[in-house]
Amino acid sequence: MPELPEVETVRRRLAPALEGRRFERVEIGDARLVRPYEPQAVAAELVGERVAALERRGKYLVVRFESGRVLLIHLRMTGSLRHAPGGTLEDDPYRRAVVRLDDGSDVAYRDVRRFGTWLLFEPGESEGYLVARVGPEPLSPAFTAAALGARLAGRTAPLKSALLDQRRVAGLGNIYVDEALWRSRLHPLRPAGGLDPNELRALHRAVRRVLELGIARQGATLRDYATPDGSSGSMQDEFNAYGRAGEPCPRCGTPIDRIVLGGRGTWYCPACQRLP
Ligand SMILES: [Zn+2]
Repeated sequence: MPELPEVETVRRRLAPALEGRRFERVEIGDARLVRPYEPQAVAAELVGERVAALERRGKYLVVRFESGRVLLIHLRMTGSLRHAPGGTLEDDPYRRAVVRLDDGSDVAYRDVRRFGTWLLFEPGESEGYLVARVGPEPLSPAFTAAALGARLAGRTAPLKSALLDQRRVAGLGNIYVDEALWRSRLHPLRPAGGLDPNELRALHRAVRRVLELGIARQGATLRDYATPDGSSGSMQDEFNAYGRAGEPCPRCGTPIDRIVLGGRGTWYCPACQRLP
């Protein structure tokens, strides 16, 4: 599933193509994308809107229109966006929507498993929606080790589960949490509220480092994720723990172990990341 670095990569690539452009034609071919609203109705509402800015909050792409309306796009499991000159998109059975921009280019939305969402908000209505679902941005200057500690304080849930909770910290998913825990030598089952100040600082540094690395590598392509020009990311080549069960830990050589935590595969080094 796309996490913060993948969504941020999409945003950076797509922003120059979208900003200042008008939605000239909109086709939404999948009712699940915009439910409970009618696809034709949402498409008609979007026609004529001009993009003021393409932003990101957590794993949401935030399309801000000059009208003040906002389209929130969430890619969920397998969503991806493609930008191409008009008429050059190949046939694709998994294409769920296409926007023709006023420069003649197309932005196509593809989603194999169809969990992605497009939500259109009237002016002023998207902020409350996001505040209720998305916590602080881990790459913002306000996100300090102390701020992370405050988000985890008093929580008895496993550290990994707390970090996956978008209301605690925005944008982290299975890959980047496992990588951040490996870097900070913290066991995924540690109680989230039980870290000492040194451990909190290490975790804070590791979270930012893996996210920055993920952005620098244009995200991780395991299956469906691709950048808007169709190319792959290379963060998967940098994994130290995620998906590496049985392979030697790059730090100590101990085979990486896999457990299931909250239904999610979880990879860690049993020697470097010990339970106290
Ligand atoms: Zn190790």
